[in-house]
Amino acid sequence: MRLTLGGEQLRAFGAGGDDQRIKLVLGRGDQPVPDFPPGQDWSAAWRAMPNDVRPHLRTYTVRATRRDCAELDIDVVLHGLDDGSAGPAASWAATARSGDPAVIVGPDRPGHGRAWGCEWAPPADARSLLLAGDETSVPAIGAILERLPSGTQAIACVEVAHPEDLQRWQVSPGVDVRWSFREPRSHERGSLLVPAVLEAMTELCGGRPQQIIDDVVDPDVDNAILWDVPGGGHPLGDAYAWLAGEAGVIKKLRRILVTGAGLHRSSVAFMGYWREGNAEAD
Ligand SMILES: Cc1cc2nc3c(=O)[nH]c(=O)nc-3n(C[C@H](O)[C@H](O)[C@H](O)COP(=O)(O)OP(=O)(O)OC[C@H]3O[C@@H](n4cnc5c(N)ncnc54)[C@H](O)[C@@H]3O)c2cc1C
Repeated sequence: MRLTLGGEQLRAFGAGGDDQRIKLVLGRGDQPVPDFPPGQDWSAAWRAMPNDVRPHLRTYTVRATRRDCAELDIDVVLHGLDDGSAGPAASWAATARSGDPAVIVGPDRPGHGRAWGCEWAPPADARSLLLAGDETSVPAIGAILERLPSGTQAIACVEVAHPEDLQRWQVSPGVDVRWSFREPRSHERGSLLVPAVLEAMTELCGGRPQQIIDDVVDPDVDNAILWDVPGGGHPLGDAYAWLAGEAGVIKKLRRILVTGAGLHRSSVAFMGYWREGNAEAD
């Protein structure tokens, strides 16, 4: 579901584009949308709030901003509405009505260089880009692809639930977007994405490993956040991969790219956007 948020303060919103993230602030239980501590120390102030009133924070990608009309779009996956497993964000989005109040945390000034909350940072000399993820990464992948300089070669592999989730983006000719749909055949989450990524990697790298095959240590995705965005350039090879989505699937993809395709680990940005069975920590 696409939600458009509006408010005068958004005229000063410092969106960096690409995979810019924000926090959606949601009242706990029946509590109304809370006053939220402003300023750079919002995180510490939020943590210090008593448990029963501390609002939920959920992370979303800014799909688009229109500063002139003080608007910002987010695309929210409406998960778990049928079986009651939806968290506060999906439940809120499903029942939100035009005019309802909403609070977000985000940067208030466009800066220079890498913006707060943006992770997309391929080295300038990366010639083959691979992006992959599930429905939660669709807003980020769409925003990144639409801003790529023309002439960039990129393949994006996106696994979503239904054909109705497909979005059409304005991308330059070198960009190939490949959608796969779990339904109606009830494919397991990630089971279409993994082969799609392998195929894309073979095409991008011509089937040859970019590096001496490296070994990786798999993080424990149930007890730690799966997140690694290498800074700086990568010493060898010219491919760069950006992976985001369910942490177990992303862990598997990262392993395949580093140990199978031989992509240097500093050429793979991987982010667990959510974890099956775990609510976002708050
Ligand atoms: C940087 C970043 C950007 C993100 N951008 C987006 C975005 O643009 N759009 C978007 O929809 N999500 C996005 N996400 C993912 C989103 O933050 C999580 O899905 C979040 O858990 C949703 O909060 P909730 O309150 O609905 O569920 P929670 O309270 O966090 O979780 C409740 C239950 O639902 C499950 N669950 C959570 N998300 C999903 C899902 N997508 N599908 C199925 N089950 C789920 C959990 O495993 C848990 O069991 C992003 C995450 C990050 C870190």
